[in-house]
Amino acid sequence: MFQLFLPLNFLGFVYREIKASMANIERMFELLDETPAVADNGTEPLRIGAGEVRFDHISFAYHAGRPILQQLELTIEAGKTLAVVGSSGAGKSTLTKLLFRFYEVGSGAIRIDGQPIDQVPQDELRRQLGIVPQDTVLFNDTLKNNLLYAKPDASDAELQQVIRLAHLETLLAQAEQGWDTRVGERGLKLSGGEKQRIAIARMLLKKPAIMVFDEATSSLDSHTERGIMEAIRQVSAGHTALIIAHRLSTVVDADRIAVLEQGQVVEQGSHSELMARQGRYYQLWQMQKETDK
Ligand code: ATP
Repeated sequence: MFQLFLPLNFLGFVYREIKASMANIERMFELLDETPAVADNGTEPLRIGAGEVRFDHISFAYHAGRPILQQLELTIEAGKTLAVVGSSGAGKSTLTKLLFRFYEVGSGAIRIDGQPIDQVPQDELRRQLGIVPQDTVLFNDTLKNNLLYAKPDASDAELQQVIRLAHLETLLAQAEQGWDTRVGERGLKLSGGEKQRIAIARMLLKKPAIMVFDEATSSLDSHTERGIMEAIRQVSAGHTALIIAHRLSTVVDADRIAVLEQGQVVEQGSHSELMARQGRYYQLWQMQKETDK
């Protein structure tokens, strides 16, 4: 069967060819006429309270016999930021795919405010989740429509507000026709950092209860990376947020950091606690220092 997360990458390719009026990923899947790999038979309304997310003893494998997550336990406290770190291939992005239910957990449950997410219709679940992905997809359309994609009925005042919060003013000031400037393959080419800011602005328009940042800072220079991290910090303040961190420098300010190894969380704490412990997190820092030399 067609694996559903593949289309997320694949969407990057397909999106460019499709008009910008698409309001959400789910409609995209309808358009592509894909059969979701995960059965969408939840019928309960999602009862969002404070917004706690719990990975409750979950196990998962893409292919039988090759477990990725094993009895993993992890809680993102309501209103707090949790960053997940770990070596490449540890399964960090997989957590996000499972949270969005692009794949089904093998055992255990993911719960939002105690409610297992498989009991909830997928569109309702995904309405409450926002993601700033590693690779932001832009349409061949105006800057404004690229933002409105997240909320087609947003007012100009709302747009202006998110542009300010996502620090997109400079880009806008430089674009010849302001937010009516065309972007994407056939328009103004945006840098990795600018695309991330657009994704942040889209998320702000959507106002999800839970924010996920699959950071792509490895492709950004350190000045841009700092700017993006600052924007993420401001935007996520007071929200339940999960940062999938592919670089350690971006997690220092998170309320809590979890280190993923061999499918499990092997350490958790704040940056200073984990550094003082001189365990796996500390070792990852030493390794990064070596590779950054
Ligand atoms: P990185 O920091 O390098 O992005 P990660 O910790 O986010 O890594 P994941 O992307 O979650 O790691 O991948 C975990 C493992 O699952 C890897 O071994 C990866 O090759 C494998 N994997 C990821 N996606 C798929 C897929 N669609 N089908 C099969 N295996 C996959």
